[in-house]
Amino acid sequence: MVVKKNSMIKKLYKVDEWQIIEEAFDPKHHEMAESIFSIGNGHMGQRANFEESYSGQTLQGTYVGGVYYPDKTRVGWWKNGYPEYFAKVLNAPSWIGVDVFVDGEKLDLAKCKIESFKRTLDMKQGILKREFCVSMENGKEISVDIVRFVSMSRQEAGVIKYSIKPEDKCTIQLISYANSDVRNADANYDEQFWNTNSTEIDETFGVIIAETKKTAFVVATGFTTIVEKNGEVLSLNPACEHKNKQVSQIFTVAAKAGDDITLYKYASVNSSLNYSTDSLLKKCKENLSMLRILGYDRLLKEHIDAWAQKWAISDIKIEGDVEAQQGIRFNIFQLHQTYTGTDARLNIGPKGFTGEKYGGSTYWDTEAFCLPFYLSTAPQEVSKQLLMYRYKQLGKAIENAEKLGFTDGAALYPMVTMNGEECHNEWEITFEEIHRNGAIAFAIYDYVRYTGDSQYLFDYGLEVLIGISRFWKQRITFSKAKNQYVMLGVTGPNEYENNVNNNWYTNQLACWTMKYASEVYSTVQKSSASKLDELKTRISFKESELADWKAIVENMHYPKDENLGIILQQEGYMDKEQLLVSDIPTSQRPINQHWSWDRILRSCFIKQADVVQGLYCLEDKFDLATIKKNFEFYEARTVHESSLSPCIHSVVASKIKNLDKAYELYLRTARLDLDDYNNEAREGLHITSMSGAWLAIVKGFAGMRVKADMLYFDPIIPKQWQSFSFRINFRGHTLVITVGKSQTEIKNLSADELTIKIREQFVSLPANQSIVHLN
Ligand code: BGC
Repeated sequence: MVVKKNSMIKKLYKVDEWQIIEEAFDPKHHEMAESIFSIGNGHMGQRANFEESYSGQTLQGTYVGGVYYPDKTRVGWWKNGYPEYFAKVLNAPSWIGVDVFVDGEKLDLAKCKIESFKRTLDMKQGILKREFCVSMENGKEISVDIVRFVSMSRQEAGVIKYSIKPEDKCTIQLISYANSDVRNADANYDEQFWNTNSTEIDETFGVIIAETKKTAFVVATGFTTIVEKNGEVLSLNPACEHKNKQVSQIFTVAAKAGDDITLYKYASVNSSLNYSTDSLLKKCKENLSMLRILGYDRLLKEHIDAWAQKWAISDIKIEGDVEAQQGIRFNIFQLHQTYTGTDARLNIGPKGFTGEKYGGSTYWDTEAFCLPFYLSTAPQEVSKQLLMYRYKQLGKAIENAEKLGFTDGAALYPMVTMNGEECHNEWEITFEEIHRNGAIAFAIYDYVRYTGDSQYLFDYGLEVLIGISRFWKQRITFSKAKNQYVMLGVTGPNEYENNVNNNWYTNQLACWTMKYASEVYSTVQKSSASKLDELKTRISFKESELADWKAIVENMHYPKDENLGIILQQEGYMDKEQLLVSDIPTSQRPINQHWSWDRILRSCFIKQADVVQGLYCLEDKFDLATIKKNFEFYEARTVHESSLSPCIHSVVASKIKNLDKAYELYLRTARLDLDDYNNEAREGLHITSMSGAWLAIVKGFAGMRVKADMLYFDPIIPKQWQSFSFRINFRGHTLVITVGKSQTEIKNLSADELTIKIREQFVSLPANQSIVHLN
C-alpha cells in the first residue's frame, strides 16, 4: 500500500484487470475503501461498510433509488428565489448487519489484532469479498470469509455469506439484524429523516417498515437468515430481539477448531415507489421466502449471468496496460451499478449509491457526460428515457424560471433535482450556472444525431428547445456600449469564477440552442404543419420569437484576446495574474482544500473544462488550429478539480493529436477515485464522470463521431497500449472496433451492411464480417 510522497495520488489497491484488491487493512483509508468497494444494482446500493460492528471511523451508507428527503435549506443569508429545500439522497435502513461474538467478545476490526486481511471487488461478477484472520483480546483466533452482492437480476434482493472458522473450541454467537436508526452525515439540522412505522421479528423473518418524514416514502427492509455448520443446516431456533429500531435473530453455535460456521443472509428491500404501502410487508416476506427457497448458489449464478450480459455489450479491453484496463472496467462497473435504464423515474446521481455528497439525483452531468455512453452501449429506449425525464419536467422548469422572474414559457432546468424542482441553494450556482440549460438542449441534438430518431423532435424535443430558447432570449440583454448582445452575471462550468459577464461557453451554447431550435422548427413545419400548429397553440408560440432569436444569434458578443489570438473564457479573464498550474506547489493541491475561496476566485485557475467544453461540443464550428491553440492555453491553467474535467480535455487532446496529454488525462479520469487524485474519494465516488473515461477512449482515442448520419472514426493509440477494443450499438447494428498499433479492425455483427467513414475514406462493412483498415 503506497501513498506517494510529493504526488497528488494514492496507490492503495493492487492492479488487476478485473478486480480491485486491498491486501491489508488500514483504518486511515477505510472510508475511502468503503466508497471504492461499493455495490449496487441501479435500484439500490450501499457503501462497503463492514457487516460486523466497527468502532473506527466509518461513513455508513445504504441507499434506495428514488427515495429522498427535502432537507430544509440552510444558508447564511436568505435570497429570494432560493428553493425551500436541498434534496438529500437518503441514508436508508440497513440490512447488512451481522454481529459476531466469540466466547462473549465482540468482533471489531478496530480492536483486535489483524493477522491478515484482503478485500476484493470482483467487477466481472459484481461481488464484494472480504477475508481476514484476527486474534481477539480474549486470545481466540478466527478466520472470516465474507461474500456480499446486491442482485443484478432481482432488483430488490441482497445476499451475504458470512463464514467463520475458529482456531480453538469456542462459542460463536451470530446476530443477524436490520436497523433503521440511521442518519445522514450531511443533515442540515441533524434531524433523523426516517420514522420507524413498525418492526417484526420471528425465527424466520425480520422486517422494518420505515417512512421518510415529509416525502412519505415507505420502505420495507427485511431479512431471513440460515446458519450452517460444516455444510449442514443447523436447526437452531434463533432468539429474536427487538431493540431501538433494530430487529435481530441471534444464533448461538458451539464450535471446535476448524469448524466452518456459515451464515446466509437474504435481504429484501421493497419501497412504496413500486407497491402500495399496505402491501409492503407482505411483498417483502414473499420475496424473502422466495430468496430462501432459491438459495445462495442459484442467486449467485443468476447475478453473475446478469453481469455477464452487461459486460458483453459494454466491456472495453485494453491490451498492454493493466492500470488503464482496471480503470475503465471500474468506471463501467460503477455506471452499471448506478443506472440500468429500467425505471423512468430514476437518473444518474453524481455519487450514485456510494455517498451522500451532492444530494439530488440529476445534474447536467447526465446529459453532458453520461448520455453518449448509454447511446452506444444500451438499447435506444434507455437514452430516450433519459431525455423523457427532462421532457416530463418541462413544466417544473417553466415554474422554476417564473420564480426567478422569467415569463411566457421560458424554461430554466434546475441545477440539481429529484423531481424537477430546483433543490440547490447557492446563488452563484442556482441562479447563475445556467449553462445547464444548454447541455439539456444539446443532448436532444446528440440523441437524434446518434439514433436518427427525428420523430423525437416532433413529439417532444421541439417543445423543450423552445422553452429553453425562450429563457435565453429573456436572459440575454443588448449592450448599447458594445452594440451587441451580452449575457451578464453567470457562472460558467468553471465554478472557480462567479458572476462573470459573457462566459464564452454559455454564450455559445445559448446561441447554438436558439439556432438549433429554429432549424428544428422549420423541419417540423415542413413535414408536419398540423403538429406544429397544435404545439404553437398549446404553448402560445409566436413566429416573431424566431426573429428575436435570429437577431441575437447574429449579433452575440464572444470575448476574445486579439493579441494572443485566443477565446476568452469570460470578460476580464486576462486581467488576472497569469500563472500556470505548474507554478502551484504539489503540497497546495487540490487548491480547493488548501486555498481560501477568495484566493481561488481571484486566481486564473480553472476548476474544469469551460472553453474546452465548448470546443468539445461545438468542434465543427472551429478549425483545428483554433482548437489546438485554445486547448494549450487553457489546459495549462486548468486544475481539473472537478471530476468532469480531465475527460473532456482528454478527448480534445486526442483530436489535436497530443497523445501523451490525452493518455495522462485519460488515466486521471479512469483512475480518479481508485488513485484518489482529488483527495475526496472517502465521500463517495464520482459516478457521473465515469462515463468520461469511456468518452476519452471512444470519442478520444478511437475518434468516434456521427457525421451526416454516418459513423466516423479517426483512431490513434497511446504508446503504452498494444490495442484497445470496444463494442457499440448504432442504429440497429452492433460493431466491435479494435484499434491496434498499425491497423483498425471493425467487425459488423449484424445482418445488414453498413457504410462508415475512417478518416477521409468510406468503408463498407458487409454483414457479419470484419474489415481491416491500416492506421
Ligand atoms: C461540478 C459540476 C457538477 C457537480 C456534480 C461540481 O463539482 O463543478 O459541474 O455538475 O460537481 O458532479
